[in-house]
Amino acid sequence: MRLLLLGAPGSGKGTVAQRLCNERDIPQISTGDILREAVREGTDLGLKAKSYMDAGKLVPDEVILGMMEKRLTAPDCASGYVLDGFPRTLAQATGLDELTERTEKPLEAAVYIEVPEDEVIKRITSRRSCPKCGAIYNVLYSPPKKEGICDACGAALEQRSDDTEEVVKNRYQIYLKETSPLIEYYHGQDKLITVDGVGGMDEVYSRVTAGLEGRIATGS
Ligand code: AMP
Repeated sequence: MRLLLLGAPGSGKGTVAQRLCNERDIPQISTGDILREAVREGTDLGLKAKSYMDAGKLVPDEVILGMMEKRLTAPDCASGYVLDGFPRTLAQATGLDELTERTEKPLEAAVYIEVPEDEVIKRITSRRSCPKCGAIYNVLYSPPKKEGICDACGAALEQRSDDTEEVVKNRYQIYLKETSPLIEYYHGQDKLITVDGVGGMDEVYSRVTAGLEGRIATGS
């Protein structure tokens, strides 16, 4: 399965990607996670990306494409992958097409998770994550048992520095301008599957798997 997830920040791409990948034993490739790790480790990539991320802006296409070319040609991608947060611009989408043509392993589908703006802003600003084990909570919809503490490992939960209301509004505007044209792009390639992203986690996930059925070889 070679798949990408499209949708606004906070639309649930990460949650869906994680579940698809766990069930199929293929890598979940989140550009945001790769970049955050690079920032934490202080690598060249992290130094290049940090100021853009802090401001909620997109990291330049050439940086992202170089990073993804390396990632997608790694051996663990041979049996498939789910892309989460990439591509985010038309230049990234055409770069991905060139890469998959070269490797003769085309993308099979683009799943667009549709969620209205007021809902995504609410979801993101109430999101909290565990810096130690990566567990994700939402203080409105799926709070930890003890306020501010990770159920799984007991660490103090944090809010991502780019999940504040001001930065989120900026990220949403950038999504509308730069990323939402990709919906039409993948529709034109007959790869688009649109799913209603409003509802519980299980409900949205079932819509995704139902949408994929018959469209791609779900076993691979
Ligand atoms: P995310 O975790 O997907 O919300 O990404 C967090 C931040 O990382 C974004 O606001 C961007 O600054 C940066 N980022 C992640 N993926 C990309 C991408 N494909 N292109 C450019 N910037 C990205």
